[in-house]
Amino acid sequence: MKNPVVTSWTESTRNLFKPVIVLVITFAATVKLSQSLYRYNLRRRSRARSGTMSSSSSSDNGTGVQARRRSRILSSKLYFDIPNSKVPLIYSSAYDITFLGIEKLHPFDSSKWGRICGFLLVDNVVDKNCIVEPLEASKNDLLVVHSEAYLNCLKKSANVAMIIEVPHVAVFPNCLVQQKVLYPFRNQVGGTILAAKLAKERGWAINVGGGFHHCSGEKGGGFCAYADISLCIHFAFERLNISRVMIIDLDAHQGNGHETDFANDSTVTSSSS
Ligand SMILES: [Zn+2]
Repeated sequence: MKNPVVTSWTESTRNLFKPVIVLVITFAATVKLSQSLYRYNLRRRSRARSGTMSSSSSSDNGTGVQARRRSRILSSKLYFDIPNSKVPLIYSSAYDITFLGIEKLHPFDSSKWGRICGFLLVDNVVDKNCIVEPLEASKNDLLVVHSEAYLNCLKKSANVAMIIEVPHVAVFPNCLVQQKVLYPFRNQVGGTILAAKLAKERGWAINVGGGFHHCSGEKGGGFCAYADISLCIHFAFERLNISRVMIIDLDAHQGNGHETDFANDSTVTSSSS
């Protein structure tokens, strides 16, 4: 593609009219969704992808998994209509994590998402009323990529503590961990998924949160509890007539989560910095 990879808000605004759909995912990953070369219709692509899956499991099993995934995606509420008065910048105050002060034990700034939007508002880059607020990803949405077993493991605070690398979280009741940590993450997941739809409609979109590139369908880690990148891609394949995806990961680490999820899928490629 001729246009450069979008790496920032201001840079992306210059590329508004270029014929590429670009989705930037926060600190960790930039996903570039290209429609250019291989546009198959939905049914044909679904068949092809079922075929890919059947190479690693039985054909019947692969078809069943694909059908369940498709039905979950089609019944999801995460794709909703965004009025033209909004800009394709996605953020919710529900993204930010405060947890009795112990969030400061992790090197990440757990309110950085709100801080980024704060800078944009102060500099009049965007009006507060023009920011798009996503919905929280439901269990049905998460099951598009995650197994029941993985989601159940998040009901133990010790497992969440390990994933977010803050051992003290293990001693708190899981209801509190769900509310203070996983609920913000699920809202960010909803934002990542919605960003692909918005990028398809507007030419670009940015989710201020998400980019959890260390989480795969079966394993979390590195502050990443949900595989929002994998989820975003599956939704885009099914609902947006997207056939190939390139993930450009700008984080310091390798994106081992989405790499695991798409290891045998030639329609998804990724590159790390
Ligand atoms: Zn990382």
